[in-house]
Amino acid sequence: MIVVCPSCGAKNRVPEEKLDSNPSCGQCHQALIRKTPIELNEQNFSNFVSNSDLPILIDLWADWCGPCKMMAPHFAEVAKHNPHVVFAKIDTEANPRLSQAFNVRSIPTLVLMNKTTEIARMSGALRSSELQRWLDQQLNANARS
Ligand SMILES: [Zn+2]
Repeated sequence: MIVVCPSCGAKNRVPEEKLDSNPSCGQCHQALIRKTPIELNEQNFSNFVSNSDLPILIDLWADWCGPCKMMAPHFAEVAKHNPHVVFAKIDTEANPRLSQAFNVRSIPTLVLMNKTTEIARMSGALRSSELQRWLDQQLNANARS
């Protein structure tokens, strides 16, 4: 499968069974699987979503948003436990075109993408246990369809 390097954006072909053995980027040699949220913006967004074979869970947030800040450590916590999902954050203030493209009405909003297809969306802050449960449900539902 194709994993997009969070450091340099290079596309790396990684056999699925190697995902857990700490694969590194062929180009910049940084770790491909981060277990921490990465930052997406208007420059790197389309490379990630169109090329990554891993599902991407995006947290659309803003600096002035209290619930977003409350959820941030929960989002990071769940990222640690789900290495086969790319956890990404988009600052809606810094990236107005992305925020518009997602038609964001309230933040925080979570969007789960499989390639360029949005497969699920949830608005409002979640605790880590709720977020994990929601993610599991969406991934299971998507695997069945
Ligand atoms: Zn790289």
